[in-house]
Amino acid sequence: MNVLVDPDRCCSSGLCVLAVPSVFEEDEDCVVRLADPRPPQDTHQRVREAARRCPGRAITVLEDGVSRHTLMEE
Ligand code: SF4
Repeated sequence: MNVLVDPDRCCSSGLCVLAVPSVFEEDEDCVVRLADPRPPQDTHQRVREAARRCPGRAITVLEDGVSRHTLMEE
């Protein structure tokens, strides 16, 4: 799994940081940034859920090179 975030889409809700603090963190302006772009297996389900719940749709999860957003929209 690879994770990407788009700071321009982040509305600083903090939900992802609360859900998976080992993967997502906030900068000094409370905008998301990645602490771990290749998170370990035991976080994958929480990362997927964080991406699904992100109000800014700022999180993209890549699994086997396929965008999770793409899969959800099919
Ligand atoms: S859940 Fe989305 S909008 Fe909220 S802090 Fe994380 S990336 Fe930003």
